[in-house]
Amino acid sequence: MKNKKIIIIGGGVIGLGLGWQLAKAGTSVSIYERDEAGRAASWAAAGMLAPLAEAHTEEPELLKLGCQSLARYPQWVAELEADAGMPIGYRMEGTLIVGLEPDDTHQLRHLYTSQQNLGLDVEWLTGRAARAIEPALSPRLTAAIRCESDHQVDNRLMVKALQRAYQKCGGALHENNAVEAIHIENGIATGIKTLAGEKHNGDVIVLSAGCESAQIQGLPDDLRPPVRPVKGQMLALQMEAGITVKNVIRTVRARYPTSVYLVPRTDGRLIVGATSEEMGFDTRLTAGGMFELLRGAWEAVPGVYELPLLETWTGLRPGSRDNAPILGETPVESLIYATGHYRNGILLTPITAYEIAKLILTGETSETIVRFRLERFLR
Ligand SMILES: Cc1cc2nc3c(=O)[nH]c(=O)nc-3n(C[C@H](O)[C@H](O)[C@H](O)COP(=O)(O)OP(=O)(O)OC[C@H]3O[C@@H](n4cnc5c(N)ncnc54)[C@H](O)[C@@H]3O)c2cc1C
Repeated sequence: MKNKKIIIIGGGVIGLGLGWQLAKAGTSVSIYERDEAGRAASWAAAGMLAPLAEAHTEEPELLKLGCQSLARYPQWVAELEADAGMPIGYRMEGTLIVGLEPDDTHQLRHLYTSQQNLGLDVEWLTGRAARAIEPALSPRLTAAIRCESDHQVDNRLMVKALQRAYQKCGGALHENNAVEAIHIENGIATGIKTLAGEKHNGDVIVLSAGCESAQIQGLPDDLRPPVRPVKGQMLALQMEAGITVKNVIRTVRARYPTSVYLVPRTDGRLIVGATSEEMGFDTRLTAGGMFELLRGAWEAVPGVYELPLLETWTGLRPGSRDNAPILGETPVESLIYATGHYRNGILLTPITAYEIAKLILTGETSETIVRFRLERFLR
């Protein structure tokens, strides 16, 4: 496989992460990216690595995959920081999920019971105990759950590091070069055609175009990955002396439409997110979205009222039909999917990159990803 040519469509964390692993293994890799690499969902994300806080009883396989990916993060960070020669802001302080009134406490209890039933390592805290850990939290706090093993990474630094490591290892990056179609001949993917009209042959084609993965032409309709955009609005504040947090804070708000999270970065930024909206490819910020985020952040950490507002943005999560990623072989020979990572793509980058690289290099799909193939939607 080392002499073969791999083409990756889309240069987000998934395409770059996979490309880096393949280039490092000595294969010839080309990434075709419509815009600037890593500036779509991978740039917009909050960088939480939070399988425990995100645990849903109805998604046990996804939880397992998330935990497996989180377990590989220390190795991933060490390898990437060494190859790229830069830090990526990996932090291990953990997550506090907080409630602010009795209805929230009921919801927190329900979540805590589910987490315990799933055997997760979580701790119930009184409001007072949570405030002892994070003094900036509101005195109104009724209770909290501590998920110590949920971590975070600075996803924008990770994007930059991945791009650098990929290119250092010899990977070719073609930015501002959108792919229009995948060429399929007799059931085998043989290459791509760019929007500029160029044709490129490849021995393996990987589709990792995030929320636009279903828009690429040339795929039979029934084999298009069922991925749609799910809009998230975000903002960043500048932390100041006396108004700082160290842990990731997530709210549970039983009576409001939007729960929020606050993610402290090492450079002093405090990321506040996120709405979750089914608005197609609409990326406009709205007054309502910003209002919900600011209200939620202010209720949990009242001091944010004083903080300078640095930035606002939106991003589109690549959501699959069952919220889990679509990974691995497809019924078209030599066509591989690595898409649909929805709200967990930063968390799932290491496992996706390591496992899909292994599949391409050895031809074998590991137990870890076998149940995430497109096949599950075709039955
Ligand atoms: C607001 C928000 C908050 C999030 N928070 C978190 C979080 O805290 N933790 C977490 O784990 N995940 C989070 N996510 C999810 C995570 O960001 C995504 O799952 C992940 O970035 C997906 O990576 P990707 O490479 O598949 O997609 P993208 O980063 O979207 O990359 C896809 C790339 O494909 C390119 N492309 C599209 N069409 C074409 C084409 N025709 N030809 C060539 N290139 C093309 C795009 O330009 C883009 O650069 C969040 C997402 C959002 C939007």
